[in-house]
Amino acid sequence: MSKPAARNPRRSAELSGPPSLVNAPASHRAACRSCGSTRVTSIAMTLTDGSPVHFASCHQCETRWWAQDGAAITFDHVISKARKTA
Ligand SMILES: [Zn+2]
Repeated sequence: MSKPAARNPRRSAELSGPPSLVNAPASHRAACRSCGSTRVTSIAMTLTDGSPVHFASCHQCETRWWAQDGAAITFDHVISKARKTA
């Protein structure tokens, strides 16, 4: 039969840049580790040793935390990584 039209629906996504740099409260499934609220701002960062981490803060109870690969890490952990400048 006839082939489907050669369309590229993903084109707009490629042009919009890295989505991780934008605040994505609900769609990111980030929930506060203290109160469970999804009113959380998550910011992607890269430490000096190249580790991609997220800094998140809750608008509900103002709890803040760091995460790497979806798992919470301590601020001391972040600092020790940041100091590892080799
Ligand atoms: Zn909270």
